[in-house]
Amino acid sequence: MASISSDFADKLDLEPRSSVAAADPCAIVIFGASGDLTRRKLIPALFELAACGSLARRFAIIGFARSEMSDAAFRDSAAEAVRRNAESCQVSNESLRTFAQSFVYVAGDYDQPDAFEKLSRRLEELDQERHLEGNRLYYLATPPAVYPKVIAQIQRAGLVRPANGNSWVRIVVEKPFGRDLASARKLNATILKAFDETQVYRIDHFLGKDTVQNLLALRFGNGIFEPLWNRNYVDHVQITTAESLGVEQRAAFYETTGALRDMVQSHLLQLTSLVAIEPPSNFDATAVRNEKLKVLQALRPYTPDSVAADVVPGQYAPGQIDGEEVAGYRQEPGVRADSQTETFVAAKLLIDNWRWADVPFYIRTGKRMPRRVTEIVINFRRAPHLLFRGQGIDTNTLVLNIQPEEGISISFHAKLPGQFMRLTRVAMDFSYRAAFGASERSAYATLLNDCMRGDATLFDRADGVEAAWAFVQPILTAWEQQGRSVPTYPAGSWGPHEADELLSGDGRHWRRP
Ligand code: NDP
Repeated sequence: MASISSDFADKLDLEPRSSVAAADPCAIVIFGASGDLTRRKLIPALFELAACGSLARRFAIIGFARSEMSDAAFRDSAAEAVRRNAESCQVSNESLRTFAQSFVYVAGDYDQPDAFEKLSRRLEELDQERHLEGNRLYYLATPPAVYPKVIAQIQRAGLVRPANGNSWVRIVVEKPFGRDLASARKLNATILKAFDETQVYRIDHFLGKDTVQNLLALRFGNGIFEPLWNRNYVDHVQITTAESLGVEQRAAFYETTGALRDMVQSHLLQLTSLVAIEPPSNFDATAVRNEKLKVLQALRPYTPDSVAADVVPGQYAPGQIDGEEVAGYRQEPGVRADSQTETFVAAKLLIDNWRWADVPFYIRTGKRMPRRVTEIVINFRRAPHLLFRGQGIDTNTLVLNIQPEEGISISFHAKLPGQFMRLTRVAMDFSYRAAFGASERSAYATLLNDCMRGDATLFDRADGVEAAWAFVQPILTAWEQQGRSVPTYPAGSWGPHEADELLSGDGRHWRRP
């Protein structure tokens, strides 16, 4: 076995940054290491962590997949993955060579216990050689159908329990976590038969973005917002997650998934619960996740009638993005010519608790929208008495931009210069980039570091993920039972007109991001 450098951080030319906590020494085992997620996100994120000193000096990354590959070939592909995809740090040849030396590869089939015994031996060797203290992080980056097999094999090979009282073993489970309530429950049961809940990190990379966390900082780190953050002052909330890309190479996955499962059950409900939570008693995993769960449990359940009235699916038809003609969803390679898969969902949610009674949360997500944007818009109520009639006074808004540019913007009305009392809408903007420079690290880097430090605050718990599916399940059931003809929207638009009617029926309109 090739030996691994033990002083990676020393060899990098980057200064470790003081704001970043170093993780425990550990072995990181990536299952599905020959895949897209590993290449585009995980390896570059691990490089970022190593480069800024927030991986421990002693670490090893073990790729596991069925494809035959030597350690050397895996290292080459890791180096290439970093070159192509590292987001927020400089990449020198020297730093890359040193980093890649920490990679080893084990080829094996998920049906063969032998492969996991080989993995177990390799882990033992690395532990001895690198003094990894028995700490292990497993990352499930295979297609979800393979997760139960991996878990069963890890358990059979005796790799689930920590080697001693000071070491830890954790597992990261990628989304999608199930495809409905029943399968999510089954997956939880499978995982929890092998692991304790405290070992399980269900990841949603949206939660690793600074602005998402900044939502909590904004609400609970300032005195001025929280008093307004309720039904007395908030008229409604809008959450938009739009992408300009179409289905790309992922038709096989998307045809059986759709936007409701892919985006609403996870990202959009996560954002909804963070906007709506009550102040946790402290910022730890249990307190934050307890409060998020209460929001999900307070969402008004849909009935077949309210699904028809308040949930709008859509599918992109041919259109234009940035002046270029693009194909409709049904013309994409791998998509059925009569596909009813939704590439867009808009929905009206109500939260039945004291804080949010009668305040609609309108959420929407779609592919092939005019541009990539994720934003949360808090629309405040109008002033109770309008002195300045006929001046197109709109409500005040607070916009949290989550991507592509992270920031916060408050809009209000101000007097135009001049003799007459004429008002116009202005904004106060806070930009993460302007205030702090480029984002320090990618969402995956943040979350991987959290796993290695044992901080589960930004990860889903079994009850949270099931509560989200319980909310989405009546929509899935209604769509299945009613059969449906999904309305289309031209690529490059903000969705079908039914999505506009969802708000116009309430005398409101979507903000144009
Ligand atoms: P891939 O389809 O690229 O699969 C990853 C690897 O899994 C493949 O390289 C392959 O390796 C192995 N694999 C594929 N099919 C099977 C099978 N039937 N049985 C056993 N192994 C198989 O997936 P991604 O990397 O895109 O995604 C991995 C996971 O992460 C998925 O659950 C996905 O939903 C999730 N995810 C992915 C994101 C992304 O950006 N790609 C974003 C968010 C979540 P080999 O053949 O060598 O064994």
